[in-house]
Amino acid sequence: MGRYDLLICDIDGCLAPETSEPMNIEKLSLIADHNRRAIARQDRPIITLCSGRPIPFVETLCRVLQNTTVPCVAENGVWLYDPSNNGYAMDESIGPDEVKIVHAAEQRMMELYHEHGVRIQPGKSASLSLYHPDPNYLESIAPAVEKEFHSQGWPLRVSLTLFYINCDFSQISKATGIRRLLSQTGIDPHRTAGIGDTSSDLGIAEVVETFGCPSNAIASVKAAADFISEHEQIDGVLDFIQYLESN
Ligand SMILES: [Mg+2]
Repeated sequence: MGRYDLLICDIDGCLAPETSEPMNIEKLSLIADHNRRAIARQDRPIITLCSGRPIPFVETLCRVLQNTTVPCVAENGVWLYDPSNNGYAMDESIGPDEVKIVHAAEQRMMELYHEHGVRIQPGKSASLSLYHPDPNYLESIAPAVEKEFHSQGWPLRVSLTLFYINCDFSQISKATGIRRLLSQTGIDPHRTAGIGDTSSDLGIAEVVETFGCPSNAIASVKAAADFISEHEQIDGVLDFIQYLESN
């Protein structure tokens, strides 16, 4: 038995590019092989996912990566997807009023920014993500988005990835999603590791025992990391797996 039961992995900027570039299936298959061995022999951490992406995207990658046992966190903590029983569990704080707020926020964001090329990422249930191809444009509007939510009385937290502004209910985060995952599975947080690259991944760092990041991580994530890979994205994840196995 190794030191870790679980490695919780962000997707965009870690396992896959955040752009629409093809994923590296040869390297993903190394992760899938790792998971097959982890589940069969229980001698290394199972790799599960923790992402801001909508649940169908996370479910797909979970299945590609041969994780058949441990839930994944989707939509920045809104959802747990459980591959062992095809279960979908939403955070209990989300009710009809929260869903109404998300719909109102989507409508307001489109009134303000659709003409500037902003689009809402399809498929989210209880949060919204604004997409624009220019990261500088997103950065320029993020404070105004935050101000608008505040003035409407909508409790939505605003955070940036490269091509998205994520707007999530303030009581929900990757940290709350991971805590639900751990309490559901009984996995000890001291036997977990995690990896991520942007600000929402600080929620992963908050809960896991050992946190790593690829070289493309933002400065605040690097500052929170126990291990910073010299390699980008999935090469950084593979590097972190080696580090965990040798430490
Ligand atoms: Mg990321």
